[in-house]
Amino acid sequence: MNVLTTSQAPIKNYIKGNFREANGRSMEVLNPSDGTVITTVPLSGKAALDEAVEAAQEAFPGWSRMTLKERTQVFYKFRSLLEKNMHELTELVCLENGKAYGEAKAEILKGMELSEVACALPTILNDEIQEVSKGVECRTSHLPLGVVASISPFNFPFMVPLWTIPNALALGNCMILKPSELVPLSAQRIAELLKEAGLPDGVFNIVNGDKEIVEAICDHPGIKAVSFVGSTRVAKIVYRRASSNLKRCIALGGAKNHLIVLEDANPAISSANIAASMSGCAGQRCMAASAMVAVGNVDHIIEQICEESRKIVPGENLGSVISKAAKERIERYINEAEAAGAKVLVDGRNATVAGKEGGFYVGPTVIDHVTPDMAIAKEEVFGPVLAIMRTSDIDEAIRIENSSNYGNAASVFTENGGLADYVMERVSAGMVGVNIGVPVPREPFSFGGWNESRFGVGDITGKSSIAFWTKVKKRTTKWDPEAWKDWAS
Ligand code: NAD
Repeated sequence: MNVLTTSQAPIKNYIKGNFREANGRSMEVLNPSDGTVITTVPLSGKAALDEAVEAAQEAFPGWSRMTLKERTQVFYKFRSLLEKNMHELTELVCLENGKAYGEAKAEILKGMELSEVACALPTILNDEIQEVSKGVECRTSHLPLGVVASISPFNFPFMVPLWTIPNALALGNCMILKPSELVPLSAQRIAELLKEAGLPDGVFNIVNGDKEIVEAICDHPGIKAVSFVGSTRVAKIVYRRASSNLKRCIALGGAKNHLIVLEDANPAISSANIAASMSGCAGQRCMAASAMVAVGNVDHIIEQICEESRKIVPGENLGSVISKAAKERIERYINEAEAAGAKVLVDGRNATVAGKEGGFYVGPTVIDHVTPDMAIAKEEVFGPVLAIMRTSDIDEAIRIENSSNYGNAASVFTENGGLADYVMERVSAGMVGVNIGVPVPREPFSFGGWNESRFGVGDITGKSSIAFWTKVKKRTTKWDPEAWKDWAS
């Protein structure tokens, strides 16, 4: 099947192992690489959520009573189904998100890696047992919470849902997924493949929709925990609303990632990494390099970044951005920075791709002499744009990074280990790197930022996610009658 040329059937909700029509509002889903309509997605209301929660509650006793080892069997099979269907899944991500093929394929590969972590949970999750005083034993067990929800953004339609699905389910929870209404197709295939892998009906459900369904999730008394990934504006809304309803919540928000480039940085490594980081996935990554702080004279590196950027061509090795509104927002940031005195060295405005004139493209853009007070220096642009600020002082560079409200990622480019450590210790970001444009921790290291890039405790993947998706029961047992003699025995 060539997914890219196939118009898709209308999206349905997925409840109790079946796809179900949803009544009421709906919207069109566009192919961002050419602007054509692919399908429609229902914008469900509370009734659909009630049905999904009921199905999940029914499935919970059976699923949660299985052993962890039994539940993880599903993810061994799921992982091999991802491998088997790699090409079709990759094309689906390209279709709905506009990514270049290799970028979309990386999402499926990452989905496999995330499933592998779920398969490893019986080895990773070590409950404790100890004789705490003579004849008295304490033991912990990690138990599932019940019905949980996962709300995802448009930029990784396949990978971000899989940040939460394998671990949350393998640990015994039942889930309602609310995908981004801009990219609802990948989630449908995830549901089909989970079923094929043997997941019992009702353990995983999808309710499509927008703001209305997200609010209903935050309010629903049957949902115990909510994970959210998206913009900081909405992360704050979700975190406040879910927490005020006494739910456990982790809400990952937006980002403004700084790359600090020192004079001794390796020009070839730095320029290749920086250009790839700012333009990969058309700059629509929460880990994308967005602000570069050039310390001292690094003109030769900036020149090379421009050269590398010119090799990145919309429609060839650069995908589209998600919508007309996104293209307009990105170009507005560039226009405003230019009007305020910044110098556009590589200009990606008004990009078009022959044969795909309806697509939403922005070419790679490098802007020099940006000042820290400009909107492009402070706000999340979420496009293939690098804003370069200049300073002669490493501490000033760190101050610029520290002044950001966000705190997802930061990187330093240098050949000097001492300076690299100096910067890494002082930047205010959850994921930091040296000579790397996208310092994403690979599994089983967990993913999560600081400041307004993450609300809640812990990270969303890896070992850290075990604490989020479980509650710990502490048992104390005493069988030895001698142990009754005093409280400490
Ligand atoms: P978004 O915040 O607009 O949407 C995310 C989800 O929230 C969607 O499912 C959407 O339906 C829902 N939503 C939108 N408006 C809402 C509202 N007013 N009330 C309740 N729910 C609402 O984000 P997006 O544009 O889909 O994704 C891009 C953003 O996600 C960027 O800011 C990016 O940095 C961020 N992101 C962060 C991470 C991370 O790990 N920190 C990862 C991926 C994406």
